[in-house]
Amino acid sequence: MTTRLPHRTISLVDQRAGAIPTRPAQPGSLPVPPARGAASQKGPLVDTFGRPLRDLRISVTDRCNFRCSYCMPKEVFDKDYAYLPQSALLSFEEITRIARQFVAHGVQKIRLTGGEPLLRKNLEVLIAQLADLRTPEGRPLDITLTTNGSLLARKAQALKDAGLRRVTVSLDGLDDTIFKRMNDVDFPVSDVLAGIEAAQAAGLGPIKVNMVVKRGTNDHEIVPMARHFQGSGVVLRFIEYMDVGATNGWRMDEVLPSGELIARLEAALPLVALEASAPGETAQRWGYADPSGKYDPQRGEVGVISSVSQAFCGECNRARLSTEGQLYLCLFASQGYDLRSVVRSAGGDAELAGAIRRIWQGRSDRYSLLRASLPPEAQSSGARRVEMSYIGG
Ligand code: SAM
Ligand code: SF4
Ligand code: SF4
Repeated sequence: MTTRLPHRTISLVDQRAGAIPTRPAQPGSLPVPPARGAASQKGPLVDTFGRPLRDLRISVTDRCNFRCSYCMPKEVFDKDYAYLPQSALLSFEEITRIARQFVAHGVQKIRLTGGEPLLRKNLEVLIAQLADLRTPEGRPLDITLTTNGSLLARKAQALKDAGLRRVTVSLDGLDDTIFKRMNDVDFPVSDVLAGIEAAQAAGLGPIKVNMVVKRGTNDHEIVPMARHFQGSGVVLRFIEYMDVGATNGWRMDEVLPSGELIARLEAALPLVALEASAPGETAQRWGYADPSGKYDPQRGEVGVISSVSQAFCGECNRARLSTEGQLYLCLFASQGYDLRSVVRSAGGDAELAGAIRRIWQGRSDRYSLLRASLPPEAQSSGARRVEMSYIGG
């Protein structure tokens, strides 16, 4: 018996204002639930709220060549920061073995992320292995990757040749001064735009561009970014600045709720609401309107990801595998399940399959939905949350 989760719009109350950046806590592991007879092996796999497993995000490195203040602030991720040693990382073979079991249990889409995934050596080899996997119905997977774009111009064609379908590129503005301040490593906008062009030329489309919006930092870049990508075939998505991890000093007053963002955008470029493209889709879609007020596909669309102001936990079908093989059931979880020890044990793929099944069947995560009703002391438990750079976005 499962209970369906309600949709909820969350009123933005500042409960964690001015959190001071701290070193992230070392994430601990949850025990994999033990097997209890054959009954749990039958039927479609759903969690305690009836949510299926469809989307697997795999972090391939915890390192990055950017220091975005909202993700890996320089003062925490400095030269003394203890990144994972090579021996702790899942090998490509281990990742593929784990992914194969996820696909057998319903996963249709795999997103490679990080840290910066293009920093992982020979990533094309992993992509080629994942591209060989098939769903139980015999379909290939939708394999995609999120990148800061810094190495994309060089690597786009090799990624496409290996079997990558699409890319999402992160870009927080077109103004070089603002962008350099946000990536904090002086990386220029022009190189990211060159990466987007190379990805388009290689056929890695439709390309999505993610822009994290921080009120007072880059919100004046919303309309210029929209104008730049309108009609280009690139889908721009605005992401609410999230309280992920414990190091970014998140403050609610720096969040620009998507409702306000759309109102601002609509004043410059008329929009019409579009249907979700797939169940569990995180972005709300808006199409650019023609002078008669109808959606004009030539002008394209934008999306908003309202992780703070709207809870979309009810349809959340995503699992996240960290670089060292910890399985997280929510972006805001503080602990994962240690799949690396399962994949390295003598139990083989049958044990791995059983572990994935039991972990998902026990899932009750719904952080965004609960956030509004959490008492203040639980809100500040962000200090124990896993970092975004460790499990990816
Ligand atoms: N390095 C790659 C990149 O930046 O695209 C992939 C990893 S990054 C963690 C994945 C996505 O998470 C990026 O689009 C990034 O902008 C987003 N992100 C990171 N921290 C965030 C935060 N605090 N709030 C909202 N989005 C965030
Ligand atoms: Fe690196 Fe991506 Fe995090 Fe920026 S958002 S610091 S590019 S992992
Ligand atoms: Fe999914 Fe957790 Fe985000 Fe809810 S808060 S949508 S469960 S990742």
